[in-house]
Amino acid sequence: MEQTATSGLIQKFFLYARKSTDVEDKQVLSIEAQITELRAYAKQEGLQIAEELIEKQSAKIPGRPVFNKMISRIEHGDANAILAWHPDRLARNSVDGGRIIYLLDCGHLAILKFPTFWCENTSQGKFMLNIAFGQSKYYVDSLSENTKRGLRQKVRNGDYPSQAPIGYINDSRYKSIVVDKKKSRVIRLAFQLYAKGESRLEDIANFLAKNGIVSRGGKIISKTRASFILSNPFYIGLFKYGGERHEGKYDPIVSKKLFDSAQEVLKLRSKPNHKPTINPQPFCGLISCASCGMMITGEYKVKKQKNGNIHNYTYYRCTKKSKVVKCSEPCIRQEEMDRQLSSLIKSVSLPPDWAEELNRLALQDHKKSAQSHSAVIEEVKKEIKSIIILSIKSCEKNNIKKESKMARATFAGALPLIMIISLEPVEFSGITKSNFLPTSISKEAA
Ligand SMILES: [Zn+2]
Repeated sequence: MEQTATSGLIQKFFLYARKSTDVEDKQVLSIEAQITELRAYAKQEGLQIAEELIEKQSAKIPGRPVFNKMISRIEHGDANAILAWHPDRLARNSVDGGRIIYLLDCGHLAILKFPTFWCENTSQGKFMLNIAFGQSKYYVDSLSENTKRGLRQKVRNGDYPSQAPIGYINDSRYKSIVVDKKKSRVIRLAFQLYAKGESRLEDIANFLAKNGIVSRGGKIISKTRASFILSNPFYIGLFKYGGERHEGKYDPIVSKKLFDSAQEVLKLRSKPNHKPTINPQPFCGLISCASCGMMITGEYKVKKQKNGNIHNYTYYRCTKKSKVVKCSEPCIRQEEMDRQLSSLIKSVSLPPDWAEELNRLALQDHKKSAQSHSAVIEEVKKEIKSIIILSIKSCEKNNIKKESKMARATFAGALPLIMIISLEPVEFSGITKSNFLPTSISKEAA
């Protein structure tokens, strides 16, 4: 075979082909096509191929395994030339491009050959190569920038730039989102069903499954997914993108009113403790089991007899949640619980004659305090009157009609005193509004 020689050295080529799934590789020949073309080119130019190397990775970032291995083998002298379709197959980032050029600089690489690009190991050739690498990088950078800009513009126009949720279809012809007639009906019905407040998320998932809406694996959707669907504002025409909410150009399939009531049900049903409202046993949470120390819980039981009599019972029992003690306490009726508790309380309760005497003393105290309160109130009233008279005089002086009217009304008894006091929390010689607010006492005093 004829050998190409530039400086008397035998040139051994690595044939390097690369294609990734990246957008910027879309227009590039497939790996098979690249290899076929390169083999034909090598034959035509009489190049000696040491090995064919194939990479299936993006060249956007450094760290491709096959490329790295090729570079170190070239440094070891396994080959001294590279054959590739175009410089952009070798590098789309500044690090790898720099490495190639450096290998040319220090003589490890004698030459690079591309069917689509001219390159010699001369200052001019390296300059051209540099430009080619720079161009590949620029292509990647500007493509991602353009993509982002395009998406932003799309969002501003009200187009959702991603996959539409169930109930909608991405129309690839017009790059828009259209309503999926059949599924949107099911979604709306699911919203209506849930908004009634009687269905669990599982019921909604079952309802959707019955109507053909299932997970990707063909199973009934999860509770989380059902909750996500029911709270997705996309259905009322709003979508989130880049942390912001946008108004969509597509038709909403759920009304705002229906959506809001579904949200309310979601909020209500997601509260973890709505059980106690059904079990309002007075002793729950107060007593713990004597055997194992766990809390006591209560239950309603309804017994229907054959003759039609219905009996309601309330039972209390140990929750038996202890992992250490195995509790064998049975459940007991509320009446029995009352009896047990009463006997316990009896042991610490007062003897009847003591209780009577203490009650009498308490009543006396109450009366006394009421009297002293009324005396204080009288005193304060007097003080307020004198202040009001003063303020009326000063108001008249300053022609402040409104306040003086109010003050006069109070003075004449048309407005209750408390109204004036409640205007502002003024302190009258140490007694504030709150001091004589308890109405029961002031009534008694009056
Ligand atoms: Zn117990």
